[in-house]
Amino acid sequence: PAAAAARLDLDGNPIAPLTICMIGAGGFIGSHLCEKLMAETHHVVHAVDVYCDKIRHLVDPAPPHLAGRISFHRLNIKNDSRLEGLIKMADLTINLAAICTPADYNTRPLDTIYSNFIDALPVVKYCSENSKRLIHFSTCEVYGKTIGSFLPKDHPLRKEPEFYVLKEDESPCIFGPIVKQRWSYACAKQLIERLIFAEGAENGLEFTIVRPFNWIGPRMDFIPGVDGPSEGVPRVLACFSNNLLRREPLKLVDGGQSQRTFVYIKDAIEAVVLMIENPARANDHIFNVGNPDNEVTVRELAQMMTEVYANVSGEAPLDEPMIDVSSSQFYGEGYDDSDKRIPDMTIINKQLGWNPKTPLKDLLETTLTYQHKTYKEAVKRQMSQASAT
Ligand code: NAD
Ligand code: UDP
Repeated sequence: PAAAAARLDLDGNPIAPLTICMIGAGGFIGSHLCEKLMAETHHVVHAVDVYCDKIRHLVDPAPPHLAGRISFHRLNIKNDSRLEGLIKMADLTINLAAICTPADYNTRPLDTIYSNFIDALPVVKYCSENSKRLIHFSTCEVYGKTIGSFLPKDHPLRKEPEFYVLKEDESPCIFGPIVKQRWSYACAKQLIERLIFAEGAENGLEFTIVRPFNWIGPRMDFIPGVDGPSEGVPRVLACFSNNLLRREPLKLVDGGQSQRTFVYIKDAIEAVVLMIENPARANDHIFNVGNPDNEVTVRELAQMMTEVYANVSGEAPLDEPMIDVSSSQFYGEGYDDSDKRIPDMTIINKQLGWNPKTPLKDLLETTLTYQHKTYKEAVKRQMSQASAT
C-alpha cells in the first residue's frame, strides 16, 4: 500500500523526497509554496527569511504532523555565513528573496539593484560550486515594454500577436532610459538571469528560471498601517484592497490604461511543484507562468474589484469609486510602466503540461473574501485611532 501511495512524476517514476532550501520562504509566494509542499508532498523544507509572519502557522512551532519536515532559519542572505551550509545540505535551492514592489524601484534603486542582483550572486555561486540545482525567481518585467507599444496608437500591427505576446526564447527585453529608474528592477533581474544561464552553459549549473506574470491571492504584500508601514505602497492588489477596506476611491495611475494578466497564486504554485518534481523537464528552461486569458486594464481591474468587494462585504460602492492620479504624484519621479503582458504558454505547456485554471472573477472573489475577513476590523480600529489622535 505504501508503494501504491507513492507519488509519480510526469514520466511515471516515483518522486524521491527532496531537501529544499527555500530563500524568501516567508513572503507571499513562499508561504503558499511551503503550505503546498507540506500538505501534498513528502519533501523537507528549510525556510529562510528575515521574517516568518506569513508561515507562522507552519513553523512557530511546526505542528506535530510536520515535525522534521519544515524548519525556519531567520537570516539575511546579504551577510550570513549560514547560507552556504544550508545550500550544501539541500538537494535543491529555490530563491524567492527580492525587493519586488514597484514603489521601491524608482525611490530605492540601489536597494533594488543590490537585492535583485548582488544579493543573489552568492546563492548562484554556492549552487554552482556544490553542484546543487537552483530554481530562481525572476519576473515577467524582464520583457519590459512590448514592441507594439512603439507603434502609433491606432496602428493595425498592434493587434498582431508578434507585436505583444511575450516568448521566453524570442522576445527582446525593452527598457526605458536610465533616468526612468523604474527599470532598475527589471535590469537587475535580467542580469542575474544571464548569469545563471551562463553558469549553466559554462559550468553545468542545473537551473530553472521562473518569470511570474502578476500572481495574486491571499497574503500578498500588506495593508498599509495594519501589517505594514502606513506610508508604504504595495502592489496593485493590496493598494486597491486597502482603498476598498477604507472606503476611499481606488487610485488609477496615469489613467489605468496599462494591461496585465493576473493568475491565481494556487494555480501558479502547481506549476512550481511540477518544476520541483520534474527536473529533467524543467532544467535549463526559463518558464513564463501566467494566465493569458485573464487580461484586463488596471481600470477594468478596479471596476471588477469594486463590484466583487461590494458583494463580499455587503457595502454599497462609493458614488465615485475611482480617481485618476499621475504617476509622479503616486510613485515619484522616474516611474515608467510595462504596457501589456501576455505570456506565451508554449514552453511550459510542452515541458510540464501546466495550464492555469481560475478565471479572474473567481480569484478576486476568493481573495477579497479573505481580505475582508482578515483586515476589516483591524482597518476600522486603525482608522478610529488615527482620527482620535
Ligand atoms: P515577497 O516580497 O512577498 O517575498 C519575498 C521574500 O523575500 C520576503 O519575505 C522577504 O522578507 C524575503 N527577503 C528579501 N530579501 C531578503 C534577504 N536579504 N534575506 C532573506 N530574506 C529576504 O514577494 P513575492 O511576491 O513572494 O515574490 C517572490 C519572488 O517572485 C521575487 O523574486 C519576485 O521578484 C518574484 N516575482 C513575483 C511576482 C508576483 O506576481 N508575486 C511577479 C514577478 C516576480
Ligand atoms: N497601479 C494603480 N494604482 C495603484 C497601484 C498600482 O493604478 O494603487 C497600477 C500600476 O501603475 C501598474 C499596475 O497597477 O500599471 C500594476 O502594478 P503593480 O504594483 O501590481 O506591479 P507591476 O504589475 O507593475 O509589476
